[in-house]
Amino acid sequence: MTKQQVATEKTTGRIQKPLGELDQGQKRQCCHCGGVMQAEMQEAESEPYPWRERGIRFSCDSCDETAWIASSETIMISLASSLLIALGIIYMLTNGLVDFIGFSFESGIGAALLSLLLLLIVALFALGALYNARRGGALILAHRTYPVIDDPNSAKRFFLPLSLGLLPWLLAIGAGYLNYTFFDDSEILGVLAMVIVCSPIAFSKKLGSSVREVFLAVFFWTVLGAAGAWAFSAF
Ligand SMILES: [Zn+2]
Repeated sequence: MTKQQVATEKTTGRIQKPLGELDQGQKRQCCHCGGVMQAEMQEAESEPYPWRERGIRFSCDSCDETAWIASSETIMISLASSLLIALGIIYMLTNGLVDFIGFSFESGIGAALLSLLLLLIVALFALGALYNARRGGALILAHRTYPVIDDPNSAKRFFLPLSLGLLPWLLAIGAGYLNYTFFDDSEILGVLAMVIVCSPIAFSKKLGSSVREVFLAVFFWTVLGAAGAWAFSAF
């Protein structure tokens, strides 16, 4: 680790790593002098959580402007978690949360205190949703402040996780069909198939993607598949 890297880690709380193969060659426009900014380092939050923020540090060739640009999946995680929390709160509100609290206030001091605690938790979650939405917005704004000049691997970076995320579904359907048709639903083969089904996620890093990108893609196809099945009233 260089001196500069140590300094960055101290001021931003992020850890620097060399750029991935697909991230190399990215160029953005400097918002100060209009010069070309080069992708220099991968910079991720030094947290162990899988939803930690990840991005790329860009530096201007002509002035000393630098910018940290969040990766697309970091922005997606931020916005999606905000949406999920908001949906959860709306679900609770429309499914008798207010009635429940009203009822518990009539049932004595203990229940009233508990429901106050519940309200506090809901309020905290609402704040969390708001924070994540604002964070996602700010990260998108940074993307716009430093527009892309060149991104040679953008298509590959987009389609690689998307296809790796579809693979487990295809493998699962294929293995399930084969097992059902030829092996009378053998349990051992079923376990073996599970391992094969998960393999695209395990190999994602080797192929230039990341586990969480592929995981998000699996989730994307799940939602799409479920929506499709629902639209064609399969269930
Ligand atoms: Zn500049």
